[in-house]
Amino acid sequence: SERYDVWFCGLTPQYSAALWIGNDVNIPMNQGSGAAATLWSRIMQRVCAGLPREEFQMRGDFVTATVDRISGKLPTSLSTSDPRGTLVSDIFIEGTVPTEYDDAHVLVTVCADTGYLATPYCVDTVSKLAVIRPNGSSWEKTLVNYSMYSVGLRSLPDAIYDAPEFYCPEHNPNPSAYPISPFAPEKEVDNPFYVDPSGNVVTGGAITPPEDEEPDVPEDYGNNPPDPQTEEQEDEDN
Ligand SMILES: [Zn+2]
Repeated sequence: SERYDVWFCGLTPQYSAALWIGNDVNIPMNQGSGAAATLWSRIMQRVCAGLPREEFQMRGDFVTATVDRISGKLPTSLSTSDPRGTLVSDIFIEGTVPTEYDDAHVLVTVCADTGYLATPYCVDTVSKLAVIRPNGSSWEKTLVNYSMYSVGLRSLPDAIYDAPEFYCPEHNPNPSAYPISPFAPEKEVDNPFYVDPSGNVVTGGAITPPEDEEPDVPEDYGNNPPDPQTEEQEDEDN
């Protein structure tokens, strides 16, 4: 904060230059490096006036590669479907580009009504594109493991992308075999992305079971749940 020396260093594809502003008698200056950058720019614009516009060349054994930022591995068709856009282009020393494929993005079969892992008793299931975190636990499981029930799942925006580790609480006569999350009642059913029965990745909506409402089936199914086989293809706008 003592403004005796103000520096700006920079480079163009052709030149590098360092600029210092100061004085011999240590009188503090009233501007910072922004002033040096402005002056640097004015000088370099004149220095480079006649030069062709060039891009910076990468020198050395560097290569660029696109990887999935969650797994750190090469993208698959599932990685490219993540609506958050998890692909990143990065620079690698040659020979260090990952050779394994993204194993964090997976398809899991979840209950269409609750978004949790389907039990054999769930009527409608969908295949959800989800993420297995590199540390192995979903946010939900982590909160449960540490008894952090005051932290709402909804406060963790990425939690809805996790592969669920608990089972559907609604169609579940045997929670000891199919554990239910303590968060189940408050968990958002909204699902940012899933794969519909015809294999299309559908993004940006709540889970809605395939709409196979048959007018002659009464609302109250009683002991005869709707036949899960009657799946209609859901035509989303593409
Ligand atoms: Zn269910």
